[in-house]
Parts: sequence; C-alpha cells; structure tokens
Amino acid sequence: MNLHYQQTTNQNSLSLKAIRLLIVLGIILIVTFMFADIALLPKNLISEYAISRLGMQVPLCILFLAGTFHPLFLKNYQKALFLIMLAIVYANYWLIIISWQQAQFIFPYEGTLLYTLFTLFIFRQSFQYALFFTFLVVLGFSILSFHYLIYGDHSFINFGFVAMGSLIALIGVKQIETAFKKLSAANNNLEKLNEIDYLTDIYNRRTYESRFSELIALRQRTAFSLAVFIIDIDYFKDYNDGYGHIEGDKIIQLQANNLADVFRRNSDIIARYGGEEFVVVTTQVDQAQCITLANKIIEQWTSANITHNKGSAGTYVTCSIGFYLAGIDQEITKNQIVKYADDALYQAKRSGRNCFIEYKTSK
Ligand code: GH3
Ligand code: MG
Ligand code: MG
Repeated sequence: MNLHYQQTTNQNSLSLKAIRLLIVLGIILIVTFMFADIALLPKNLISEYAISRLGMQVPLCILFLAGTFHPLFLKNYQKALFLIMLAIVYANYWLIIISWQQAQFIFPYEGTLLYTLFTLFIFRQSFQYALFFTFLVVLGFSILSFHYLIYGDHSFINFGFVAMGSLIALIGVKQIETAFKKLSAANNNLEKLNEIDYLTDIYNRRTYESRFSELIALRQRTAFSLAVFIIDIDYFKDYNDGYGHIEGDKIIQLQANNLADVFRRNSDIIARYGGEEFVVVTTQVDQAQCITLANKIIEQWTSANITHNKGSAGTYVTCSIGFYLAGIDQEITKNQIVKYADDALYQAKRSGRNCFIEYKTSK
C-alpha cells in the first residue's frame, strides 16, 4: 500500500560548528602540550620539536579547519578526519624517531593514545575508518618499538599499552555505534507511531490536523485551490454487527488502501478521521477533477463488490462522500472548509448514500 510516511534518518554526526570548535580545541591542546614538552626536551631537539608541532601538526589542523568551509566537507568528513589525524600521529612518530636517533632521547609514547582517543571519541570516527586508523597507528608504533627499539626493555609493555588501548577504544566505538543505531531506529518507530494510524497505516487525526494547518498557512502566502473530501462507509455499524469487528476492520483497511490508490500526489493528505470516517486534503484541483476523484472512490466499492446485506444496507459495501472545493483566491478557514465538507457528507447520507455531494456556497 501507499505509505504516506517518510522515514527520517538520524546520523551520529557532529555539526560543522562543533567540528570547527573541536579543531580549535585540538590546536590549543597541541600548543599547551608544547610548554610541558619543551621543559623536558634536550635543547638540541627543540627545532625538530618545533617542526613536528608548528611545521606539521598545527598546519594539518589548519588545513582541516580550512576544509570545513568546503561545501562537500561534511560528506567527506570521515575520510578527511582519518587522513589528517593519521598524518598528525605520524608527525609525532617522526619526532619520536628523530629524538631517539639524534639525542637518544625517549620521547613519551602516551600521546599516541591521546590522538587515538581524540579521533575516535571526540571527532567520532566511524567504526569502519576507526578500524583502519587504529591498525595503522599500532603498526607505526610497532615500528618504533621493534625496529628502532626506542623503548628498549619497555618496548613490549609500551606496545601493549598502545595496542590494547586502541583495541579498547575500538570496542567502545562499536558499542556506541550499535547503541546509537538502536536508539535511532526506536526514535523513528516512535515518530511513526505518533503520526500513523495503527490499523490503516495512513496518517492519524493528529498528523492530519497539523499537515492541514501547514497547508492553510502556506495558502495564505501562495494562492492555490484546495479540496477536502470526507468519506464515510455506509451502514458500517450494521456491517460490524452482522459480520464481526475483525471483518469490519478489513473494510476500514481497504478504504484506506483505496484512498491511497486514488490520491497519489505526495502532497495529498490522507487520514483516518476516526472510526470508519476518512478525510483527504488535496490541492491544485478543479471541480471536474474533484468529481472524477469522488467517482473513483465510489466505483472502487462497486468493483470490490463485498457483500453487505445486513440491517438497512443494500447488497454490497458502499461509502458516501462529501467534499468542498475552495477556489484559488478564496479566503476560508480550515474549520469552515471541514464544516462544508461535513455538511455535504450529511446530504449524501440523506440522499440515499453510495454517492458524493459537493457543498456549494452561494457565490
Ligand atoms: P452511516 O451509513 O449513516 O454512516 O451508518 P454507520 O452505521 O456507518 O454509522 P455509525 O457512525 O453509526 O457507525 C460507525 C461504526 O463504526 C460504529 C463503530 O462500532 C464502528 N467502528 C468505529 N471504529 C471502528 C474500528 O476501528 N473497527 C471496527 N471494526 N469498527 C469500528
Ligand atoms: Mg458510516
Ligand atoms: Mg461514521
């Protein structure tokens, strides 16, 4: 059936503004650490240190920041984050190697974990990229540990910390992503439950009211014609009494499906008004089109030919329709339109049912 409901997808993503702020925070952290590092560092390594921080890492951050102004940035955020942060980690590895080779200075390894945590949790690298990211970070660190042997006796334990820390972070990312997906699905479901009638899968009364109000507000700025149809199944109480509520429910569902087949525009509002009564709001139609649409609804029951001879009913299930068409420039309130359509429905019932009536105002 025609589902008049569009799923919204939530993404676990940061806004552009948040990304920019975080990049600035990253720059501040790098610069702040510089003061602590310089106090520890042998004097002959200061220039290499400055190159690694001010010549590599900070420019990479600035490049990242500049990238945020590109129109396709958000689309490519995960890729850009991956590349920039990996380059920042390797700029640090370069410094660790140079410190060792030039001054036998063992540069602290813990920073590596901070870069990883910042990338995975603060910048929210997605699991797929995080997997590659941590792999390459750990691979690089294994080269420092086991090729350059920078950490000597501590190589294994330091490598263990970096590898295990990365693994734990990776598991955390997976858990967060899974939880977020479940939450997002639950949220979509709730939104749907709130908007859709459970029996018929079309809009419920509440959604109809708000969508219709939006249309009326729009109509005050842009002129267009608007028609409201109210459709009510004939002798439905007798049908329920004669054939049972379950069969009655099927008739209600069929009416909803039928309406979705007749009113096919995305902008049409098809809703269950209550019980066996339905309402449809459609726009940019003229009188001839309205008559054709109403005729189609009547004909659907004729061709469905579902037996109904209980109570006062004739031989098969039918419906009655009242509609009102507000012309392009006609000023009219929502309540007034509905009242007219309702009056027309009442007239259709009084004229013997299984028909439609258009409400005519004396213009
Ligand atoms: P009329 O031709 O004048 O419209 O007569 P009617 O019997 O259809 O009108 P009435 O409004 O008296 O009957 C509506 C019935 O719809 C009464 C109620 O039992 C039934 N109804 C309301 N909601 C549901 C529902 O969700 N499922 C079923 N099976 N029946 C429902
Ligand atoms: Mg009825
Ligand atoms: Mg009714």
